[in-house]
Amino acid sequence: MKHTTSDRAVVLGAGIAGLLAARAVAETHGEVVVVDRDPLEPGPSPRRGVPQGRHLHGLLARGHDELEATFPGLVAELVRAGAPQGDMLANSRLCLGGHRFRQGLSGLAALCVSRPALEAAIRRRVAALPNVTVLPRHDVVGLVGTVERVTGVRLIARADGSPAVETPADLVVDACGRGSRMPTWLELLGLPRPAHEEVRIGVAYATRTYRLPPGTLGDDLVALCGPTPARPRGGALSLLEGGRCIVTLMGVLGDVPPTDPDAFLGFARDLALPDVYAAIAEAEPLDEPVTHRHPTSVWNRYDRMRTFPQGLAVVGDAVCALNPIYGQGMTVAALEAGALRRSLARGAGLDSAAFQRDVGRIAGGAWALATGADLTFPEVEGKRTPLTRVLGGYVARLQSGASRDPRLGAAFLRVSSLIDPPSALFRPTTVLGAMRAGQPALSPG
Ligand SMILES: Cc1cc2nc3c(=O)[nH]c(=O)nc-3n(C[C@H](O)[C@H](O)[C@H](O)COP(=O)(O)OP(=O)(O)OC[C@H]3O[C@@H](n4cnc5c(N)ncnc54)[C@H](O)[C@@H]3O)c2cc1C
Repeated sequence: MKHTTSDRAVVLGAGIAGLLAARAVAETHGEVVVVDRDPLEPGPSPRRGVPQGRHLHGLLARGHDELEATFPGLVAELVRAGAPQGDMLANSRLCLGGHRFRQGLSGLAALCVSRPALEAAIRRRVAALPNVTVLPRHDVVGLVGTVERVTGVRLIARADGSPAVETPADLVVDACGRGSRMPTWLELLGLPRPAHEEVRIGVAYATRTYRLPPGTLGDDLVALCGPTPARPRGGALSLLEGGRCIVTLMGVLGDVPPTDPDAFLGFARDLALPDVYAAIAEAEPLDEPVTHRHPTSVWNRYDRMRTFPQGLAVVGDAVCALNPIYGQGMTVAALEAGALRRSLARGAGLDSAAFQRDVGRIAGGAWALATGADLTFPEVEGKRTPLTRVLGGYVARLQSGASRDPRLGAAFLRVSSLIDPPSALFRPTTVLGAMRAGQPALSPG
């Protein structure tokens, strides 16, 4: 394969971040090629390049809204295909910070869809764009270019084992996920590797899908119990398309949820929220539990590089692999794609270094929320300041208040869903409500 035209963008990786980036660059580039090493079957099936796709993927309200704005009608299409939808607080049984939130309307959308189904629906829409080609079964093995400018990529077709081919591009977007080799590829161009930040949280997941007896959850769609320092085991259950229900159990700091079916149930019984175990104890399992490990969260600081080559952008987990417990990754990818579209719409091509600073701000906001919560576990290493301790105490009060007042729960969820900035937690009515909550007492368990 040898392309000759310019005005071509090549997106590396057809995961959520790659597909959303491709949608963004398709507005300004004559030709967009999205490369992935996987075969990319048309339907929603778990695939090798995205092992996390077998586990529960909650879509934050901000991500839901961004996706619908990017692909009008996507939500209705997924709902028609069987994805349950509702309100994030009214239809969810949440136990966060050890407090069972009182249910009530939040106005935040909850869409319960499996990661493979969401990705397949987005891929169908992106692949249908006239200037986009999705190229499966190709490995990206390196960049072409200089310290100043990336001018293409080197690809190897998996099927025929033929040697690497150079594909010219005036924009290369790396969305290869956490395993991206971009730091090494930059080094080979003569640039330093980016600095990176790391938080060792030792998260492990075990996931199994079920068919629940009708009416098990009433009008509810989700039951979620976040791990806390006092009870570091978490778990979540979500209804899904196809009348299925997915249950993901979460351990932190080296606690690994088991895959043995009886022990899996035993772990679920140990949660501070009894609803997960109660729902699955007598339910029909549809598969065997599968596991995933996330030992560390990593943020590659491309935004801090002194020299960043033009013609290159890095997005999604390739920049920042966040603790999955907080469900931020797909929403961050959607926000970064929006920033990419806006940067390109200014004309005159992408200012790559400025765009990476935008990505740094978006990823950094999510990173601060996630690592702030991780650092409430005394065993997690990281910098704690008097301010983070005060904030941690305030959030604990807010969560305690949310067990009585759904407005406080909604205020908390608006921030954790990346709809509102963290400063919104300090609106007078919210502060007053949190103060009234008094000393946080752990409600359930
Ligand atoms: C266990 C777990 C649970 C999660 N839960 C949630 C959640 O609840 N909510 C949420 O929003 N996010 C969640 N996430 C994060 C979410 O999966 C990602 O943040 C999001 O999908 C964006 O990922 P990405 O597209 O950047 O990378 P990926 O999804 O990893 O996609 C990378 C793509 O690049 C391809 N690729 C990689 N290297 C090459 C190469 N050299 N050549 C060709 N192709 C290549 C892969 O095949 C793959 O298709 C979770 C993550 C994990 C690990």
